[in-house]
Amino acid sequence: MFEVVIGLEVHVQLNTKTKLFCSCPTSFNHKQNTNTCPTCLALPGALPVLNKEVLHKSIMLGAAIDATINKASYFDRKSYFYPDSPSAYQITQLYTPVVEHGKLQIDFEDGTSKIIRINRAHIEADAGKNIHDGDISKVDLNRAGTPLLEIVSEPDMRSAEDAILYLKKLHSIIRYLDIGDANMQEGSFRVDVNVSIRPKGDEKLYTRVEIKNINSFKFIEKAIELEVARQSEAWEDGLYDKEICQETRLFDQTKQETRSMRGKEEAADYRYFPEPDLLKAVVTDEMLEKYSKIPELPDQKKARFVKDYGLNEYNAGVITSLVEMAHFFETMMNEGISGKNATTWLTVELLGRLKGEMNIMNSPVDAKKLGFLVKRIEDTTISGKAAKEVLDYLMENDTDVDTAIDKLGLKQVTDTGALEAMCDDIMKANLDKVEQYRAGKEKLFGFFVGQVMKASKGSANPQVINEMLKAKLG
Ligand code: ADP
Ligand code: MG
Ligand code: ZN
Repeated sequence: MFEVVIGLEVHVQLNTKTKLFCSCPTSFNHKQNTNTCPTCLALPGALPVLNKEVLHKSIMLGAAIDATINKASYFDRKSYFYPDSPSAYQITQLYTPVVEHGKLQIDFEDGTSKIIRINRAHIEADAGKNIHDGDISKVDLNRAGTPLLEIVSEPDMRSAEDAILYLKKLHSIIRYLDIGDANMQEGSFRVDVNVSIRPKGDEKLYTRVEIKNINSFKFIEKAIELEVARQSEAWEDGLYDKEICQETRLFDQTKQETRSMRGKEEAADYRYFPEPDLLKAVVTDEMLEKYSKIPELPDQKKARFVKDYGLNEYNAGVITSLVEMAHFFETMMNEGISGKNATTWLTVELLGRLKGEMNIMNSPVDAKKLGFLVKRIEDTTISGKAAKEVLDYLMENDTDVDTAIDKLGLKQVTDTGALEAMCDDIMKANLDKVEQYRAGKEKLFGFFVGQVMKASKGSANPQVINEMLKAKLG
């Protein structure tokens, strides 16, 4: 039996206003090569200056993962040549990163959890982009010099499930801290997966393969499964030493395979050395104090939702996994409604109606409106069934809840005078049934309720009718 060993490297693009070492804007979907300057173009003589905002965001991440934040960290040069990097080296932090020795808890469905250690998080500069266009390739340097935080885990994960839970948790934390937008498709949350196997019980680490830049959780899971299968087959066939070597592999989503991209470079190949153009990065006490005060994180929020709003673990987990969803929920709760109703109307009714490009952030019905709609059910202005119609209407029409209720004529009749009259009329028209009911045929009760509902065209409040009929029928 084999044990799977996985370690993850995640490159998070930080959402600073300007680049890591110059004052160019970080928005790189502008016209190509416009957000550049002598520093990020690596022209001779231009010197880098560290953007403090990058340190602030690193401290926040460090605080969120319970890590050591180094008061002094250092930059190093990693040399390699590629057209999207005009300096032919990358500035990174090899020897003393800004953040070290963190941890992150992952939670399983059965209620158990596990700690994944994080070796380090270091600051580095992103490269530009090569754009391949038929026979020619172009280079866009708008992204060159954008700040990245590379978060490197220990090889503590033992399955694809572990890896995905870790990544989702980390992703959620980045969004809660608002230090990056962590958009996987757009490359602001890039994952490299290191995978090896070993006989169960063995402590030593075997040869790892690194699979680069897979851009969705689903594909990461698939890539791990494929790679584990490849390695275990090689082992069982006695070909492990021959076929498994330390290398970088690519995940091909159409062919559903991983394949070799290049042999793994050793650190020596990169000729790492301390960056001579930069001073050490200093985290002052004031900075540490200020930026370690981070907002409530998903785990804490989840626990609070369970405790304060009476949600179950599952729903609390779903709602808090996305920071926008958590905020939406809390805004709904400001209307003074029940947690259970808020959950249903958010996760079932609203999410069920958001289609295509619509999501919780651009929903035509905002949190306050949805909360108010639920309030209108709770104060018996409308029935739950009518509220679904109102929500359908609000998805299409920009108006407020009460106007929509009026417009659709869905207000429940709670005017007891009108309801009493309806009950009396129905009873008068069905004297025989009244007699039978009084003689003990209790199932007839539903008949009376139904008749009154019908008479009110569905607008009567069923609870009120129930009570009224019970009293009248005796
Ligand atoms: P590199 O930059 O060369 O990829 P790093 O130290 O930055 O090296 O990252 C190595 C990653 O690989 C870490 O996440 C680590 O946990 C993981 N790792 C190291 N050895 C193994 C192994 N045998 N199996 C799986 N993962 C491993
Ligand atoms: Mg690596
Ligand atoms: Zn620049």
